[in-house]
Amino acid sequence: MSTEPTIPYGRQWIFEDDIEAVVSVLRSDWLTQGPAVERFEQAVADYCGARYGVAFSSGTAALHGATFAAGVAVGDEVIVPPLSFVATANCVVYQGGTPIFVDVREDTLTLDPIRLKRQLTARAKAVICVDFAGHPCELDEILEIAHARGIPVIEDAAHALGALYRGRRVGGIADMTVFSFHPVKHITTGEGGMVLTNDANFCERLRLFRTHGITRRPERLLQENEGAWYYEMQELGYNYRISDFQCILGLSQLSKLDRFVERRREIASLYTRALRDLPGVRLPTERPGSRSSYHLYPIQIVPSVLGKNRKQVFSELRDAGVGVNVHYIPIHLQPYYRRRFATDVGLCPVAEHYYDQAISLPIYPKMEPSVVSQVIEAVRSVSAIPNPAGA
Ligand SMILES: *Cc1c(COP(=O)(O)O)cnc(C)c1O
Repeated sequence: MSTEPTIPYGRQWIFEDDIEAVVSVLRSDWLTQGPAVERFEQAVADYCGARYGVAFSSGTAALHGATFAAGVAVGDEVIVPPLSFVATANCVVYQGGTPIFVDVREDTLTLDPIRLKRQLTARAKAVICVDFAGHPCELDEILEIAHARGIPVIEDAAHALGALYRGRRVGGIADMTVFSFHPVKHITTGEGGMVLTNDANFCERLRLFRTHGITRRPERLLQENEGAWYYEMQELGYNYRISDFQCILGLSQLSKLDRFVERRREIASLYTRALRDLPGVRLPTERPGSRSSYHLYPIQIVPSVLGKNRKQVFSELRDAGVGVNVHYIPIHLQPYYRRRFATDVGLCPVAEHYYDQAISLPIYPKMEPSVVSQVIEAVRSVSAIPNPAGA
């Protein structure tokens, strides 16, 4: 075992001016529901080219808000790709819906529009797609298929803040786009998330849902003995608010987003150049017209070529102090989903095959060049084929 500290797979980068911004809010009158929330919402919406932003206490809460706003209710089905963090499907189940798992493409590992078209059920109320690892999914095709059926597309872009799809910024394209500001993501608020939308009705429903379903704009005329204090609970909402000091941190971090994404892309291209000759290792691809923001750099270990499986390579890299990880165990293989929705192996073969071979290499903007080299050397030495044919 190495005595060096393990290199994490991802982590935040907090600057002195981020800290000062948070302190300034702590000294102000507003800890929550103050002016920083709207400023942050507007800034992220402007950056992405969307009309409205609604900030939430986490990316998961934001996803839940999006399924609520889309009208997902008990008995409804929602299309979900299997290759994601569990929250992508859980937000359907929170609303009493059933996730229908539709497999991913082999190249970008994002929802496959061909399978989507074939498997879109009559009871589907929405389509959720995921920009896996930071690579935008096939938004034009997915939107066309969903809109032909009159249902909205919720893009889980927790991996893809700052990514480009056919020259357009992710965030202003789908009916609702969801971001997370967890510390491993592109910018952080500690915990936090946001939904972007161009639709005023979705925006209103998201705001209602974030605060207990309560509004101060009553639907009926007030009675004689009712006044300015009056409020109405119109829907069953939650307390999914985010605080002001988190949002000021988000604003301060947003000013660094372009640099962060640039650095992630530099590290990804260093990995690609240094590892592409390894025969038993498959590297992530970028489709023409798309620009990934590389939340992850997932490689695939081909055991038939390498003579080692993923588990062996994973352990050897961990032993070398490299904090590799695996993203993700397909959601439909989780015990909860198997039990509740009777999903099983074979439902999504592309995602399952990918999972069997997957390892995520560390990638985060604060990574020192020497650490990048250390990861490259570790992967090269672990993936060296001891006796290449003919040698
Ligand atoms: C991080 C993440 C989430 C959840 O975001 P939180 O802010 O941690 O709740 C949802 N979906 C994907 C794909 C994620 O990576």
